[in-house]
Amino acid sequence: MSRPIQARIDLSALERNLHTVRRLTRARIMAVIKANAYGHGLLHTAEALQAADGFALLNIGDAVRLREAGFRQTILLLEGVFGAEEMPLLAEYDLAAVLHSPHQLAMLDAYPRRGSLSLWLKVNTGMNRLGFEPQALPAVMSQLKEHAAVRDVTLMTHFANADIAGGVAVQLERFNTLAAAFNMPRSLANSAALLRYPATHGDWVRPGIMLYGSSPFAETSARDLGLRPVMTLSSEIISVRDIQSGETVGYGGLFRADRRMRIGVVACGYADGYPRHAPTGTPVLVNGQRTRTLGRVSMDMLSVDLSALPDADVGSRVVLWGGELPVDEVARSAETISYELLCALAARVPVTV
Ligand SMILES: *Cc1c(COP(=O)(O)O)cnc(C)c1O
Repeated sequence: MSRPIQARIDLSALERNLHTVRRLTRARIMAVIKANAYGHGLLHTAEALQAADGFALLNIGDAVRLREAGFRQTILLLEGVFGAEEMPLLAEYDLAAVLHSPHQLAMLDAYPRRGSLSLWLKVNTGMNRLGFEPQALPAVMSQLKEHAAVRDVTLMTHFANADIAGGVAVQLERFNTLAAAFNMPRSLANSAALLRYPATHGDWVRPGIMLYGSSPFAETSARDLGLRPVMTLSSEIISVRDIQSGETVGYGGLFRADRRMRIGVVACGYADGYPRHAPTGTPVLVNGQRTRTLGRVSMDMLSVDLSALPDADVGSRVVLWGGELPVDEVARSAETISYELLCALAARVPVTV
């Protein structure tokens, strides 16, 4: 028998979440599967999201893998090409690429004027990360129009604050002003904008986190949004002991018992992707019942309180997140967001579908 930790991916939940997106919008759906599909695994995730109109990711090697696996949808490189040597692959594998910076425009300019390129022109409307400045757009557009290899152009932007009330107003206004001058398809919305601001839907929405069954909002749960959890990270208790009042647990002795307690050790640690900075009290399920972590998370183990769970023992199932324990709750306790926990799932954790 091997170490009992595993991540199970519920493919039907992925499908259902995509269906939920479909009901929210008439725009085409670009399923964001960057970072190994937010830690869920690239190919089986794309398979489950087969009904999407497109897939967005970063790595051109992964994009090629998708094409070679037979996916016919639009495949978009969210940061475009990183070097001129990638340019020929765009046409060869029919990959769409974001064009966000003058240095990419220079690569395009040097590229032979044949083939058939689909570009997503990114404009900076206030995120100040990637994208051309609005005033640069007319010149860029005319350069693209002149380039014989450019087949079509989609205008896109990305929001910095779509998860808060009123958070898209300034950027949306800037984008709409620009888009009015150029007649082309538009793409703006991440999950938060898709859920909260229908005016941002445009021609393509770009949901990521909601497909994985997690909420982009601090104040609204995934369940309330009708989303189903996709990843369940589970393991087992591998040791149980009683400790006396005054004893401490784990490195640094961060947790000190104020009474006699029964504690269990779970085969899951930060080398599996569980956040090391999750404090005592972070929720965890043992035999389906909610309890809490105790003390510092170690590399391969963490401790949990079994004082109220007399039936729990070595071999008891432990859910770190997923199912009845939303990853958003664990993330909140660890002062981070579900994105980080899901993406950090370590390569050593076996993934089952
Ligand atoms: C990651 C990403 C998304 C998806 O964001 P979610 O918050 O996960 O929905 C959309 N657009 C771009 C450009 C991204 O980088």
